[in-house]
Amino acid sequence: MSEFSLIQKFCRDIGVSHSETQLSIGDDAAVIQIPSGMECAVCVDTMVEGVHFLNDVSAEALGHKILAVNLSDLAAMGALPKWATLALTLPSKDEQWLQAFRQGLHQLATEHGVQLIGGDTTQGPLTLSLQIIGLLPQGSRLTRSGAEIGDDIYVSNTLGDAALALAIMQDRVKTPADESLLDSLRRSLERPEPQCELGVALLDIANACIDLSDGLVGDLAHIASQSQVTMRVDVDQIPLSKPFKTLMAGAASKGDVILIDFALTGGDDYQLAFTANPSRRAEIVDLAKRMSIRLSRIGVVLDQNAQQSKVELHQSGSPIEPSQGSSYQHFQ
Ligand code: ADP
Ligand code: MG
Repeated sequence: MSEFSLIQKFCRDIGVSHSETQLSIGDDAAVIQIPSGMECAVCVDTMVEGVHFLNDVSAEALGHKILAVNLSDLAAMGALPKWATLALTLPSKDEQWLQAFRQGLHQLATEHGVQLIGGDTTQGPLTLSLQIIGLLPQGSRLTRSGAEIGDDIYVSNTLGDAALALAIMQDRVKTPADESLLDSLRRSLERPEPQCELGVALLDIANACIDLSDGLVGDLAHIASQSQVTMRVDVDQIPLSKPFKTLMAGAASKGDVILIDFALTGGDDYQLAFTANPSRRAEIVDLAKRMSIRLSRIGVVLDQNAQQSKVELHQSGSPIEPSQGSSYQHFQ
């Protein structure tokens, strides 16, 4: 199969079709029309085999995840996702793999109203790179720099499942073999659900926002530096899933691992962390109810403190340190 027929067969008609798309796949570039009064938010994320995923992850899960991680970035800006382009580097033309990858990508793209409008296809070590374009009302966006002293700090849903799943799969954590618990954790790792609807709803509520890809502590530190504040987090308020709590109870009794660190520094959560003025508490409770999600108040924004770290962790009223580093970094 030629590169041309591969693109024809597997890359066309992915996701929805937008009326603002003037030209899609097939020419040298796509052409899109930006509705008046709107601005574009653009970002790109790359996943490399062996770095971002293990070689036994299904192609369908990869199709889902490469879009999910980008949707999560747009969610953190409060942008409505619309278009994507895809750079695929493949070791070979494996039609079965491509069909499954396409399926995972198409399903999530359709769910979030995204149209794939172009890309590039090359041969080499498996590398997936997706660029996404979303819309924002002119002059309106969520940023890392908007946190204000006295704001509450919130996170969506639960943290730590994905990092714990990876640690179990890599034998770094020993757990009682309960397959259903592991399945549930593994789902968070392979099928993250980006919080796009929440991001758009937060545009008028939150002062600062970030998506949690590298671990809560490291990601909150970005808000802290860019807003020039200190983030104080109460570790007891961090929302954990039932499977996570079940495993934590078992592991704690053995005293060998500190599982809460997976929620603090693990990464791959793709939830949103945001700050908002305490006057917005009732609206945030309503929003969580309306969207059937969890929004937990986990801390407070304080004035910058030169002596202390940017993110202060407290547990039962006393300061603590995470036992692992604060976040995953590619270049140490
Ligand atoms: P060019 O050589 O001009 O860059 P290509 O032959 O690479 O064009 O691509 C032909 C068309 O197919 C372009 O419209 C491009 O956007 C699209 N395309 C190529 N690879 C992909 C892909 N992986 N996903 C989506 N569209 C793709
Ligand atoms: Mg090309």
